[in-house]
Amino acid sequence: MLTEKHIVIIGGDARQLEIIRKLSTLDAKLSLVGFEQLDDGFVGATKEQIANIDFSTVDAIILPVSGTNQQGEVDTVFSNETITITEEQVKATPTHCVVYTGISNSYLDECIQNSKRKLVKLLERDDIAIYNSIPTVEGTVMMAIQHTDITIHGSTVAVLGFGRVGMSVARTFAALGAKVKVGARESEHIARITEMGFTPFDIKDIVHQVSDVDLCINTVPAKIVTANVLATMPTNALIIDLASKPGGTDFRYAEKRGIKALLAPGLPGIVAPKTAGQILANVLAQLLLQD
Ligand code: NAP
Repeated sequence: MLTEKHIVIIGGDARQLEIIRKLSTLDAKLSLVGFEQLDDGFVGATKEQIANIDFSTVDAIILPVSGTNQQGEVDTVFSNETITITEEQVKATPTHCVVYTGISNSYLDECIQNSKRKLVKLLERDDIAIYNSIPTVEGTVMMAIQHTDITIHGSTVAVLGFGRVGMSVARTFAALGAKVKVGARESEHIARITEMGFTPFDIKDIVHQVSDVDLCINTVPAKIVTANVLATMPTNALIIDLASKPGGTDFRYAEKRGIKALLAPGLPGIVAPKTAGQILANVLAQLLLQD
């Protein structure tokens, strides 16, 4: 149980509600900052203004998946107020205090470094990335259905990258009856792609691999779907770019060629906020119980 642990949850979206629910069940003392418009009451949780928090009593701070912006401001959908987390506040916490965020940036990294606290970036963890690939793929299937006039079954799909998301994408589209080819660069990935029954190709050879695709799903966070690649792709192909912003596609050239290319960030939070929140909540609870 998390009895006696004081945890401050600052901002966020519907995913944070699952975290609040879980930690409240574990008997933590929760201070909710940026939740004025939240109607639900959670046992052990009180809504607070950040100025009223006594940071010297705080064991953990939970920021939203997006972390902060470069000014230290935290997004929240449950308040109209601007909430800023400062270095002074983090420095005022006890030395064992841990800050949890989805992703970080130079502002947050510097704030943590200067205050000598521990920062946990949840989205960098393998377990969260793999669990998150489930709603990501469901969102990708939804987009493929919405933006094409053909079935996934029988279509030719190129998946670029064979990491945590790429593997789940390839498996799901193949299970729906698509002919799936996967581009990767490591020989062990090529071997695994073959073992799983997909058609492998060396990602360096991408230009020669996309001339027959109906759907191209990119998971590589680097400029990979270049103008050269797009020049060989059928104009009726759909590109769904899952890689983090700015994606791996030359969107300007795709538009010029008349190829529909969609950057699709944050699918778990869009298509399954409750599940995405539960994924974070379960891992966070484990980490907090270990500390
Ligand atoms: P990952 O496990 O690190 O996989 C990335 C893949 O890209 C690996 O196969 C990697 O190959 C390959 N790769 C990286 N740089 C490359 C390059 N320069 N050339 C060729 N291949 C390269 O990451 P992930 O968890 O699957 O996530 C993939 C992307 O999706 C990330 O940008 C992540 O932020 C994003 N994402 C988006 C959503 C969404 O809702 N849209 C949800 C989850 C994640 P190696 O293994 O050989 O390095």
